[in-house]
Amino acid sequence: MTTPPTLTADFLARRHGLFIDGEFVGAVDGRTFETIDPGTGKVLGKVAEASERDVDRAVAAARRAAEGPWAAMSPSERGRIVHRVGDLIAEHAEELAELESLDSGKPASAALGVEIPLAADMFWYMAGAARRITGTTVTPSVPYMPGQEFHAYTTREPLGVAGQIIPWNVPILMAAWKLAPALATGNTVVLKPAEQTPLTALRIGELLNEAGVPPGVVNIVPGFGERAGAHLAAHDGVDKIAFTGSTEVGRSIVRAAAGNLKRVSLELGGKSPNIVLDDADADAAIAGAALAIFYNQGEVCSAGSRLYVHESQFDRVVEGLAEHASGIRVGYGLDPDTDMGPLVSAEHFDRVRRYLDLSKDSGGRTLTGGSALDRDGYYVQPSVIARPDRDHPIVREEIFGPVVTALPFSDIDDLAAQANDTVYGLAAGVWTRDLSKAHRLAKRLKAGTVHVNTYHVFGSELPFGGYKQSGWGREKGDAVLEQYLETKSVVVAL
Ligand code: ADP
Ligand code: MG
Repeated sequence: MTTPPTLTADFLARRHGLFIDGEFVGAVDGRTFETIDPGTGKVLGKVAEASERDVDRAVAAARRAAEGPWAAMSPSERGRIVHRVGDLIAEHAEELAELESLDSGKPASAALGVEIPLAADMFWYMAGAARRITGTTVTPSVPYMPGQEFHAYTTREPLGVAGQIIPWNVPILMAAWKLAPALATGNTVVLKPAEQTPLTALRIGELLNEAGVPPGVVNIVPGFGERAGAHLAAHDGVDKIAFTGSTEVGRSIVRAAAGNLKRVSLELGGKSPNIVLDDADADAAIAGAALAIFYNQGEVCSAGSRLYVHESQFDRVVEGLAEHASGIRVGYGLDPDTDMGPLVSAEHFDRVRRYLDLSKDSGGRTLTGGSALDRDGYYVQPSVIARPDRDHPIVREEIFGPVVTALPFSDIDDLAAQANDTVYGLAAGVWTRDLSKAHRLAKRLKAGTVHVNTYHVFGSELPFGGYKQSGWGREKGDAVLEQYLETKSVVVAL
């Protein structure tokens, strides 16, 4: 059963243009592409498709704004505008949640309860950061100028034009994580949403105008990765590219950025270990393991997709997780009873199904799930696979779906080695009642975020990002500001 959208009917009826220089415009070549409701497989709307020339227009508008009104504004004024964007996102939360659900499949309740409040908060947090960007004073000692005194200081300056390429899994939150720090630091932006989920970014474009963001400061160019995305990443007029998506595309972003050596930050894939020690509270660990892998259909880069449970608790925790998984109500995103929606696209659905098929030869046992649901749309069952071979692709590769592998351990050194035996390093979880063990293990895990007795905590203050092939740099927190600023040393001879 699908519930008809109510709050978004007006928006959906509009022509969806590119957002360039504060206005919605058609693509230069007039092309459009379709966005799909993955809960039904039906077309939701047509959106202008940015080509190289549209990206050029957007970059030119961003450059003018970077050198014009945005640079001239005081940090306080900029901060207040950034704050207002957060206010408007919060005010329009229900409508945005409906639209996000329709375009991506996720339960509207997750967008409304978790992701949109976090998105608004990211703007509120960064509004304050706009006024806290400071340099240092320095006293240089210069051996070849004996007796000369200096007064020296550093300043922080915006990079200029930031290209930002975001994925489809949490579109509003990804837009917020990218836009808020870029704006707070005085940069201007060309944002390319994922082709699967362009709609909420465009609605946010309208809200940016309403908040008083000057024209050209943010430009939004829906389009395809290989065309609009690749052109943006390679663009000589872009000073920085921030990318969230697959590790494979991350590598091509790095290559594309090499031409003008633009700054690059990357938030890429993961295959994060979630570890239950012998003394853990089993019920808390079961609920936490379920959240870690099943939130957002498992379409989360930091999902706890490899569960490691101490042998003494293995059967209880893993059977408990399977029972929890079999109770998850998979359904249409706008249905209030839905716990888990469909996967985002036919292509991704096929990919996750391939892994489910592969899991049959993994040496493990599928305790629950293991297949797609027989209905329109891209629904799969939450799946728990116990004791597969350690080196099987379902244990090593990112599936980006509601599929968790569970492996037992008895020795903590062997566990730490297994947990770190991955090319990724985005997140990890540790469940224990012994804080000393928790801190010791947290130190050993090569991951950008380690959760202890919790999972998926995304406060705006916390830096987020990956070790190893999970990325370069950090998002959120004050750490992200580094990704958008140059440092200038000014040296004065006294
Ligand atoms: P997924 O495979 O899960 O869709 P991707 O990494 O392909 O994840 O996509 C994340 C974002 O990167 C999307 O906005 C997509 O359009 C964009 N993208 C894909 N390929 C490229 C590319 N070659 N250059 C730049 N951006 C790309
Ligand atoms: Mg869609």
